[in-house]
Amino acid sequence: MDDQGCPRCKTTKYRNPSLKLMVNVCGHTLCENCVEMLFARGSGNCVQCDTPLRKSNFRVQLFEDPTVDKEVDIRKKVLKIYNKRDFDFPSLREYNDFLEQVEDIVFNLTNNIDVENTKLRMEQYQKDNRDLIQRNKVKLSREQEDLEEMLLQEQTVNEQRRLDLLQEEQRQLQAKRKNKQALLDELEKSHVPATILLAQHRVRAAKLETEIEQQKQAVKPTNLFSTGIHMRQTVSLQPVPKIEEVLYQYKALHVETYGPLVPELEQLGRLGYLNHVRAAMPQDTAGGYTSALACHRAIQDAFSGMFVFKR
Ligand SMILES: [Zn+2]
Ligand SMILES: [Zn+2]
Repeated sequence: MDDQGCPRCKTTKYRNPSLKLMVNVCGHTLCENCVEMLFARGSGNCVQCDTPLRKSNFRVQLFEDPTVDKEVDIRKKVLKIYNKRDFDFPSLREYNDFLEQVEDIVFNLTNNIDVENTKLRMEQYQKDNRDLIQRNKVKLSREQEDLEEMLLQEQTVNEQRRLDLLQEEQRQLQAKRKNKQALLDELEKSHVPATILLAQHRVRAAKLETEIEQQKQAVKPTNLFSTGIHMRQTVSLQPVPKIEEVLYQYKALHVETYGPLVPELEQLGRLGYLNHVRAAMPQDTAGGYTSALACHRAIQDAFSGMFVFKR
């Protein structure tokens, strides 16, 4: 990977990790220090392509490839003028042609192809469509406002819900405290045995807990996404109901090997199977290996499919 760096002072991100690379409309990179030095008067020419540049147009380079920064910048400008949308066209075909035209312009300006003519084309388009451009601009900003208002509304609702929950928690805490105090009072005054009083207290506390749980589950679900889309009724923020099921019962796997019965693992030593098997070294056993285990597997393999005929 070639290291990103300033073409003028040759400082690289490798040598100076805090190096801030800036890019201007022509898509050529300079570091922050060089920009300060070269454009001290507010404007000057690009070191690489001699394009006249303004200091205020330098932005922090966001992409590794500075031409991407350039394209993003150009695209923004072009789309401000070419702001028609699909419903401004009688057919999809014409809309697609329009999009193609936009891409051509962005491509030409990004790659310095036929720049003069392309700019003239843009100006002509702007003249021809002045009214529509203005109308679409207003429409777009209104949609943006609507969306922002919706987000604000959602924020308010969320804040209210948070406060409600906080209040509820306080109330529950108080109830618990009161319950405890009541127990202490009773223990002090009452003649009923302490064990009975304690049992009564436990019942009350349990009841309080269930009430709290029920309230927690009754939190109202929202019905709007941030985008303003209504949530389907099937979408619920309630906790998933617990499914009561019969517990899973483990059944040992039985594999039909079509061969003689393999002795149990524990019997191998007694039956002499392990006599000729290398004993496990200490480092082997670290992972749970035993020589009986390997021997058992080998016998299983050897016995399976071994038909025994009896006369
Ligand atoms: Zn530099
Ligand atoms: Zn340049």
